[in-house]
Amino acid sequence: SPVSAVVERLCATVPDYPKPGIVFKDLTPVFADGGALRQVVDSLVCAFAGKFDAVAGVEARGFLLAAAAAYATGTGVITIRKAGKLPRAVYAQSYALEYGQATLELHQDDIPAGTRVLILDDVLATGGTLGAASALLERAGAVVAGVGVVLEIDALAGRDNLAGREVVSLLHV
Ligand code: 5GP
Repeated sequence: SPVSAVVERLCATVPDYPKPGIVFKDLTPVFADGGALRQVVDSLVCAFAGKFDAVAGVEARGFLLAAAAAYATGTGVITIRKAGKLPRAVYAQSYALEYGQATLELHQDDIPAGTRVLILDDVLATGGTLGAASALLERAGAVVAGVGVVLEIDALAGRDNLAGREVVSLLHV
């Protein structure tokens, strides 16, 4: 089946998580299925073939995708982490979440200048997270090659926070 159908079949929908009124898309069943995980990672990598030199993942679910995509392509992984987790000098970027506020950090010297970085995460919701991740990479001297997600919640218009970037979503809901 096409990757969109596989994701749609395995994705769980959880109403009122983590707060009343939020409909949470849970992709852990996709990650837990060997065939689905491979198809998802291969599809994201294929969409950006030849366009990236490293893969960045956003903590925590993005790490799963980024590590698999980097391994599959012989590239390295860049970790974009929640505040306070990285031990050396960081760039920090705060942003509004669908539910709350958050800060992401990136080591200042993890990426050689000009590296083309593909950013991966599980879900594109309001786009705050991936917008902040993009800004961090650019502050560190990288070039954002594109943004790939498994699932995009179209009603939240997350692409508006990623204007001018190539965004690939395997499933739109
Ligand atoms: P955004 O910043 O685009 O509003 O939210 C995206 C970030 O929050 C991603 O890191 C994603 O993991 C998480 N997130 C927001 N909504 C959902 C959701 O419905 N399901 C999942 N799995 N993650 C979500």
